[in-house]
Parts: sequence; C-alpha cells; structure tokens
Amino acid sequence: MGKTKQQKKALTALNYDLFRLADRCPPAPATIYTKIQQHVQRQQATVPMEAIKLSRTELPDVNRLHHMFDVYNWTYYKGKLPKVSIEFSNRMTSAGSYLPERKLIRIGRKYHEIFPDEIGDTLKHEMIHILHLKHNADFRAEAQRVGASLKAKSHPSLRKPPRYVYVCRSCGRQYPRQRRLRMASCGCCTPGREFDPRFKLKLLKSARRTTC
Ligand SMILES: [Zn+2]
Ligand SMILES: [Zn+2]
Repeated sequence: MGKTKQQKKALTALNYDLFRLADRCPPAPATIYTKIQQHVQRQQATVPMEAIKLSRTELPDVNRLHHMFDVYNWTYYKGKLPKVSIEFSNRMTSAGSYLPERKLIRIGRKYHEIFPDEIGDTLKHEMIHILHLKHNADFRAEAQRVGASLKAKSHPSLRKPPRYVYVCRSCGRQYPRQRRLRMASCGCCTPGREFDPRFKLKLLKSARRTTC
C-alpha cells in the first residue's frame, strides 16, 4: 500500500537477508521456540523497515534497540544469545562498547548523531562481543557471517585532544591523558606493577577544562 518502487526493492532485499538463515536449515520440529521464532519472523515481515532502517534525524530509543537486538538474535543466533542490557552513552566518542562484567552494550550517542545509519551495524558488532571479547579470528568469522564491522569505530572529529601530558624523566616517554594522574610512574621503566617514585611521571602540559 503506497510503497514506492525503491521501498519495495529494499523490502525484498531485506526479507531475503532476514530469512536466508532459516531457508537453509531444514524445518525444525514445532516447539514453543519455533512458535516464538515464527512470531518474530512475522513481525519482521511486517515492520522490517522500522526495525532496521531509521530516519536520518532520529535515533532509536532503548526499547527499539532491544527490539533490534531480538531481531538480530533470531536471525543470526536462533535466539540463543543471552539477553543483555543496552544503553546510550552521551560521553563515549566511539560507536559502541560491550562491558562483559555488567552484561551491558553501550551505544555512543555522539557517533550515531553523525552516522545514524550505522546503528544496526554497531549493535551487531557489540552482540558478537558477547561471544568473543577480543577482535580475534573467531570474532572476525562471526562479523563476516552476520555482516558486521570488524573494527570498533570512532570518528576523528569526536576524539578530544588530551587534557594532560605527562612525561617520564628517565626515558622521555610521553603519556597523553584525559584525566589527572596522581601516583603514577612510567610503565616502561617501573619494574613490576607497583608505583615507583624514581620513575614518577611529571606533568608537562595541562589544558584548562572548557565548558560548552
Ligand atoms: Zn569491537
Ligand atoms: Zn620511563
């Protein structure tokens, strides 16, 4: 009803993509899980554009992100990926992160205000981190399978210049930091993990905090 040719084409492509996994598998015996999966797939068929494609100006809310999580979970993991929390971070300059100890996916608001179309890709990338913490070979294989970015993304314009620069007076190594270091010694010169006053870092440069 009232769909443009372009939208119809996009829908066909999207449906093909969403159902590809199920098409390849032989039909499973009907269980409560296949019922749920069928229900989700029916939902996908009716609202795929809303679920995946978002308008340029508006970011999805957290409920929508959870819905996208469910769609990807059923599409690529048969719904077996454990449920995690999802939240937006207003401070983060990277696209996303996964905190395993809190079972939490963080989505960078600033990044996606510039690249709203990438939010699905970011979510898929962070979902893979639930299974594979590091960007190792297993991670890369999964990223290829589900069609997600291999690398954590960050936009250069979002990277802040360091507020403080510390230097080791022994080896000359510099440590740019956003936060003030209190009791820190050079990681290269200090033996062991303990603070060593002989290699205490010296503040070289300090930028005044600006508010905007
Ligand atoms: Zn990553
Ligand atoms: Zn040093």
